[in-house]
Amino acid sequence: MKIINGKEISQKIRFELKEKIELLTKKTGKQPGLATILVGEDPASKVYVGSKIKACEQVGIKSYHNHISETASIEDIISLIEKLNKDKNIHGILLQLPLPNKLDADRCIRAIDYNKDVDGLHPYNAGMLTLVKSWDEIVKQKLLVSCTPMGVIYLLKYSNIDIAGKNVVIIGRSNLVGKPVSMLMLSNNATVTMAHSRTQNLNEITKKADIVVAAIGKAKFINKDFINDGATVIDVGINRVEGKLYGDVDFDSVKDMNISITPVPGGVGPMTITMLLHNTILAFEKYNSII
Ligand code: NAP
Repeated sequence: MKIINGKEISQKIRFELKEKIELLTKKTGKQPGLATILVGEDPASKVYVGSKIKACEQVGIKSYHNHISETASIEDIISLIEKLNKDKNIHGILLQLPLPNKLDADRCIRAIDYNKDVDGLHPYNAGMLTLVKSWDEIVKQKLLVSCTPMGVIYLLKYSNIDIAGKNVVIIGRSNLVGKPVSMLMLSNNATVTMAHSRTQNLNEITKKADIVVAAIGKAKFINKDFINDGATVIDVGINRVEGKLYGDVDFDSVKDMNISITPVPGGVGPMTITMLLHNTILAFEKYNSII
């Protein structure tokens, strides 16, 4: 078994991003800026936002934190977003999800200027991802793509794992993970199968895959009966069971197989924030017309 070390790859990319920001700042006299918005007091969301702010500092992105009260209305959040949309020092806006009190997150995301949508969730960016024909076009257009899916692709690319022509099975079809991963795989010329909770004989399908991406949200769901020898397994799942983190893949069950696999923690997770930094730089470059 070969471990795909997300922590190491993530650090390598962050180092490259830091160097890039130094050059960009020299060239433009400006610093990329990311606004974070946290609504309410959810402890996990606070930790995530804190990690994002810290990661920004490490690479030279200036962060502008906005903490709104739990009792805020949707209009309060949208009015803040509109203010940030106009702010010339802010190139990316991150609204930490989920929102409390069943506030309509989709409405808030639509209010973000799509050029500042560093989470890649705005319908413009999600739609563009389905329209582009190739990975080269994604890179050339500096398209803002959802961070975790982009992290999956970068993990494969930095591990020199070919995607073109491969049979890729993605388990999960969420707008956040499964769907954008499928579009990115297609743009990299994979043959893509999408599976979900209504898929029949799932293990027969995944057994034929060269690359399996598990984005289900069920601890240890995928075991050795689902994986072919020689496959690459990307485990997106983050499941907390009795205070411990588990992926969607039963690591112990597959550990003696001849496969490459991302661990949980330390696989896809660290890449998500790294791709947020990457997207903020893309947004900064586009804002300053740097091609
Ligand atoms: P989600 O919106 O709940 O989607 C889960 C998907 O899994 C759905 O499409 C669902 O199918 C499918 N599914 C559920 N049970 C299944 C089964 N028995 N067989 C096959 N498919 C099944 O979750 P998500 O937001 O995509 O996240 C998925 C996992 O990734 C979660 O553990 C989440 O915590 C993790 N995650 C990690 C990161 C990271 O940074 N590493 C980022 C985001 C998410 P239906 O559509 O038919 O219901």
